[in-house]
Amino acid sequence: MGKQRIIYMDHSATTYTKKDVVDVMLPYFTNHFGNPSSIYSIARESKQAIDSARSKVAKALGAQPDEIYFTSGGSESDNWAIKGVAYANRKRGNHIITTKIEHHAVIHTCQFLEKEGFAVTYLPVDRYGLVDPSDLEKAITEKTILISIMYANNEIGTIEPIQELAAIAQKHKVYFHTDAVQAIGNVSIDVKSQNIDLLSLSAHKFYGPKGVGALYIRNGIRIENLIHGGGQERKKRAGTENIAGIVGCGKAIELATADISGHNARIQVMRDRLLRGILEKIPHARLNGHPTKRLPGNLNVSFEFIEGESMLLWLDDEGICASTGSACTSGSLEPSHVLLATGLPVEISHGSLRLTLGDVNTEADIDVVLEVLPKVVSKLRDMSPLYQKEAKDRGCNV
Ligand SMILES: *Cc1c(COP(=O)(O)O)cnc(C)c1O
Repeated sequence: MGKQRIIYMDHSATTYTKKDVVDVMLPYFTNHFGNPSSIYSIARESKQAIDSARSKVAKALGAQPDEIYFTSGGSESDNWAIKGVAYANRKRGNHIITTKIEHHAVIHTCQFLEKEGFAVTYLPVDRYGLVDPSDLEKAITEKTILISIMYANNEIGTIEPIQELAAIAQKHKVYFHTDAVQAIGNVSIDVKSQNIDLLSLSAHKFYGPKGVGALYIRNGIRIENLIHGGGQERKKRAGTENIAGIVGCGKAIELATADISGHNARIQVMRDRLLRGILEKIPHARLNGHPTKRLPGNLNVSFEFIEGESMLLWLDDEGICASTGSACTSGSLEPSHVLLATGLPVEISHGSLRLTLGDVNTEADIDVVLEVLPKVVSKLRDMSPLYQKEAKDRGCNV
């Protein structure tokens, strides 16, 4: 099988950088290379470019420009929000609340803080991946200083009831952080009316460059610095600015939030047809995540009697890029913590496939996947002794 045209359905892992975004970035590598901390005029151009990008990010979130801090991406923003609030508010309390389905940038940060003497509650989710606001309210104690709940899940696409959760945080005077890396460009966000105190975003998830993102910090929040050094980012985040990246982040968020409903409508129609086709053509398949409260481009399906990584290799052979909830790390297969938290049995979570659509996908891509995937699944099942046995036991032609 030769490599055909690539069908990219892994937009939650990363996206390409739009040409319009690259175009506005390029001059900042060559002509406008000045260090914004210097005083000559080419430096002022860099500074103005950063200010303009900051305003664009602020506008997309309903924040003030002086509440936006550029970082190296989603992981740094999550680390800063959580460690920064934890260290600055230690005297008030040592309790943090998060969920079992966060990105590792949040979960591993919380686990690190547990070793530093902080106590962390990891809230459960229901079978769709939703956090119950009453669970959050019950978990809050006198010592709670931070609640960190993701806006939308990167694996199963579930969109959390952020407004309700943040209102509970506000009622109890606890800071509310959300990892909105997957949400930008897919849901309308207004940090003021939604009572969000801190928000993480990353440009490469919305057609911007990799290695740049931002943390929104509401004015007045007590937070410690994460990166110490020079006085950049109003003395809160040291390091010579990634000017081209920041300019790209600004342009990308402007484009991604210009027509959210139009973008969603187009992608969702394709995603829904793909789901219907998969469930129709492939037996023993189920949808993971919420049927409606989910990211428009996200599809996560589990196939019984299949191992996710083999499926990915076969799909790659056909030019289809996807991902799975089972990751082969250090030789042992680790099922996704997100799928397990939704109550999916270990064996079934190993056979999960995530297809995330973006603006490069077409109806023709959906046709190809609906043609190829059933064949791949059936080939793998034919090789699976477990499947053969199950078929016999059920006495059916599976
Ligand atoms: C991708 C992702 C991150 C990490 O962002 P980087 O910019 O790659 O560090 C964090 N949280 C979520 C939900 C993500 O999808």
